This record gives sequence, structure tokens and C-alpha cells, in this order.
Amino acid sequence: MSTPSSAGTRPHSTISFKDRAHDRLNDAKVQRAMRNFNLAGARTRGMLDMENLEDIRTSAAAIRDRSLEMLDVWLERFEKEATRRGVTVHWAETHEDANRIIVDIARANDVKKVIKSKSMVSEESHLNGALESAGMKVVETDLGEYIVQLAGETPSHIIAPAIHKSREDVGDLFHEHHKTPRKTDPAELTMEARKFLREHFLSADMGITGGNFLIADTGSLVLVTNEGNGRMTTTMPRIHVAITGIEKVLGTMEDLSCILRLLTRSATGQPISNYITINTGPKAEGDADGPEQMHVVIVDAGRARLLGTDMQEALRCIRCGACMNHCPVYQNIGGHAYGWVYPGPIGSVLTPNYIGLEKALDLPNAATLCNQCGVVCPVKIPLPDLMRKLREKQLDRGLRPWKERAAIRMWAWAAQRPAMYALLTRIAARVGRTAGGADRTIHKLPGNGWTEGRDLPAPSGKTFRELYASRTRK
Ligand code: SF4
Repeated sequence: MSTPSSAGTRPHSTISFKDRAHDRLNDAKVQRAMRNFNLAGARTRGMLDMENLEDIRTSAAAIRDRSLEMLDVWLERFEKEATRRGVTVHWAETHEDANRIIVDIARANDVKKVIKSKSMVSEESHLNGALESAGMKVVETDLGEYIVQLAGETPSHIIAPAIHKSREDVGDLFHEHHKTPRKTDPAELTMEARKFLREHFLSADMGITGGNFLIADTGSLVLVTNEGNGRMTTTMPRIHVAITGIEKVLGTMEDLSCILRLLTRSATGQPISNYITINTGPKAEGDADGPEQMHVVIVDAGRARLLGTDMQEALRCIRCGACMNHCPVYQNIGGHAYGWVYPGPIGSVLTPNYIGLEKALDLPNAATLCNQCGVVCPVKIPLPDLMRKLREKQLDRGLRPWKERAAIRMWAWAAQRPAMYALLTRIAARVGRTAGGADRTIHKLPGNGWTEGRDLPAPSGKTFRELYASRTRK
């Protein structure tokens, strides 16, 4: 059996979003996988029994806002309560700090093998690479993460990391790495992964998990999983390290109960996930199992910068994935096109904020602003508004191409002069009717990607205002 490696850790490559999206649109495998992907339907079915869904969403948004407004208070409370129960809490200002802290813990405890449960913050910091560079073997134990690790890739979805892979792809990977006869039946493949992972669960020195939430009141770490690997990762090795972002803290267990009602339904349509694990301290005297040491590494890495700004609402995110499942752009190009850890609408907001607007130029524009994401987000993050604000920031900082900036300035100039605007749009509508359409002179808009693969249709010859007025008269 070959050892999984983390060759797939990625640099900040969002600058090439358009090329990546283009590649994925022309990739038959990705297109087939995206056609078969329907977590949106699962969410719809999962919400059917929630009569007061809007009220619960409003409560959940208020809970997350309260957490963010009192972040310093809740984090300190978490540290105090967790420490009182035997947990070592570490603060990491940057990704590098987080990696260094975890590598140091591993070295101090002579760790040779690390097993991991899914953690998006560790994807942000390329933690696997840091541990491997320090000489440790790292094995992902979430099935999807294990598959992408074997493939030397990165997750393409925050809750379904290998959604871009077919069962034939997985069969090939397992055959190559496990040296077993090739199979493609999902149940048989799962059993095979289970058998190979079991050996790692039994021999690992350290288990690393993410953390869905931190509970300030009790100093607890909450994990929401479907495969049980989270529980194995937190209880089998002698050391458990959790890595999570500063924004993941909630005040109380009551807050958690409200959020949990929405999280799994929004993610997979399940009323509750298979495993909700609440870790409160390491193994205590008299406990049958559990780690000897428990560490929680709380990472900032750009999050605190958003507090008190017009981007703070993005920190409400509970990582359910619903926004990407419902996004027409994500549904066509998949997650890798976004180039960094978080794909879809929330990725288009978080990535520019975390790694820099200039490194993610296209992401805030990778949306139709149809508001499907805003409608399904369980914590009511106004994603289209945030993307629009990021577009404005790009414009203000001169980060868009000059032609686009000039066109927007011209449009803004005309839009502030209603009579002029009406005249210009009337002329454009009339010219469009006579010269536009597939067989006429104007069938493309210069510099506009939409008309590269399709003809610009001829308008009716009337402006929106004229059509609206005639409709109102009727
Ligand atoms: S932005 Fe909302 S819908 Fe998207 S992952 Fe976060 S919580 Fe879920």
C-alpha cells in the first residue's frame, strides 16, 4: 500500500479563475459529476418539516451576530472553561503560527503518524504539508478527504470533498494505492477504505480535527460528522489537536441547539447528522477512553480584520455548503475553479477578504447575483450584497481593467441624468432592433464573455421603461 501524500496543497491561484473555469466547463468528467450532484434537492426535502424555518433562520443569524459582537468575551470564556477541564488552548495569529504550534506539539510528543478528520482551516494553512516536511506521515480519514489525498488533489466542496470524482476514478485510485483488485461498487469501495483506514486509526500517535463550534460556557469543542471518523480521530490516538477559526465560538449549548437544527438540513437534508460529538477535555480519571492530551488551536488568519466592517456578516458562516449547492456558477464549474479553499458564493466573499482582493480579482464577479445563495443560507448572510460591495471596492482601488472602469463611469454619468439616460437607451434599443441579432451586424458585445459562445439577441426595440409603462397602462 502506498502512503498518501499531500501533493495537492494549493497556492493562492485564484488569479487564474477564468482559465480554471474554462477548463472545468470543457472537462467531461467534471461536467458529468456536477450533473449528478444534487444536494440542493436534499436540502429542499430536509426543510419540508420545518414550518417556522424563517423564524429559525432569523434566530440563527442573531445568535451568530451576538457571537461576533462579543467575540473577545466568548473566546476568553472558552479558554478559561476549556483550560479548567484540562485542554491546552493556543492562539495563532497566522496560518504559519498555527502550523508551527501543531508541528511543535507533535515533535514534543515524538509523533510519527497523524490521522486527520476534515478541517477546512488546515486546508487554508497547508497543515499536511507542514507536518510531512517535519517528517510525519499524515492520513486523512474522512472518506472524501482520503480520496482527494490519494489523488494528490484538494477538496472541491466543503462538505463533499471528492464530489468531482466518479466511482470509476475512486476504483482506479484504490487499485493503484491499495494494490487490490479494481472495483467500482460504492459499498465495496467504502469497505475497502474502512479496512485500510482502520490500521491507521490503531497506529496513529496524534489525531487532528477541525471544530464546527466552540462552546464558551462549557469549554467544549463540537464536531458534526457523518462517518464516525471524527470520533475515532479524537479518541484513538494519545493526543488530540483541534484547529478552528476564531469566529466559530458560540456562547451556550442553547445557541448550539438552534444552529444544529439548520446546519445538517442545509448541508445534506438530514434532520440531524450521524455523529454530533461534544469534546470537553481530555481523558479524565475513570474515563474508559479518550486522549491523554487535548489541544485547541484557535486561528485568526485574517478573520479579526473583518470585524466591525461591512464584511462582518460573512463570519456568520457555519460551513453548510448550501450556497454552493444552489449556485448556478458552482453547479457548472465545480469547486476547483475557485482556486482556494472555499468555493461557491461564500468562497467568492471569503477568499478576497482572507488572501487579498487583488489576488482574487474575478471571484466577486463569478456570480449572477440571482440571490439563490442568500435565500438558502441558514444564517441569512446577504452574499450577493457582499459580492457587490467587493466589486465596488475593486473599482475604487482601480483593480478592474480600464475598459470596464471607463464603461461603468460612463454608465454612472448617464444614469445620473435621467433625460439623457432615457434618450441613450431609446437610441440603443432602436439600433439594436435593426442591427442586432444572430444574422446581423451586432451579434457580439466587445469584451463580453457571454457573447463569445452565443449570439446577442436583438432587443424588441423598446426600452425597459417603455415596456413597463405600456404594461402599467393595460
Ligand atoms: S454562506 Fe451560508 S449557505 Fe454558504 S456555507 Fe456559509 S452558512 Fe452555508
